Amino acid sequence: MVIELEYIFNNEGATLDFDFYIDLSAYSISGNKLFPKPFLVEGKVFNKTNIVRMKATAVSVMRTQCDRCAGDIEERIEVPVEHILVASLNDENNDDFILVESLCLELEPLITEDIFLALPSRILCKNDCKGLCPYCGQNLNNGQCSCQKPVDPRLEALKQLLDNQ
Ligand SMILES: [Zn+2]
Ligand SMILES: [Zn+2]
Repeated sequence: MVIELEYIFNNEGATLDFDFYIDLSAYSISGNKLFPKPFLVEGKVFNKTNIVRMKATAVSVMRTQCDRCAGDIEERIEVPVEHILVASLNDENNDDFILVESLCLELEPLITEDIFLALPSRILCKNDCKGLCPYCGQNLNNGQCSCQKPVDPRLEALKQLLDNQ
């Protein structure tokens, strides 16, 4: 989706609404599609007091696995996107603004990048996920296993020291 910005830049108060889909089904983790459904992107570009902004929301479903117990997770994901657009930049190294010298903005690569930057690095099936037993691999959310907790070797040495006194 490409948006022509000349009219927006030249007219204070101008607004342009947009909506489109971004298909990210090509991204998968161990064979499973991370985003089985396309993202619906809804937003607008508007000129307020001669500052041009793009604001949008990208919504889809993310399918992944719990970081602790490896259980399947499918949850709604909503990514807010907001950028200030400028037609020229004085300071080349300014990351706060999106430079659109051509006055044509290609939304898909920009919003795709925002989606990936917004993804949480760790996802849990629930906040208090108990994870897997490191010894037998049982999912501790389904109940305690019969493994004994190993004794801390430092405590064991201390115990022997005290016993021998
Ligand atoms: Zn979990
Ligand atoms: Zn166990």
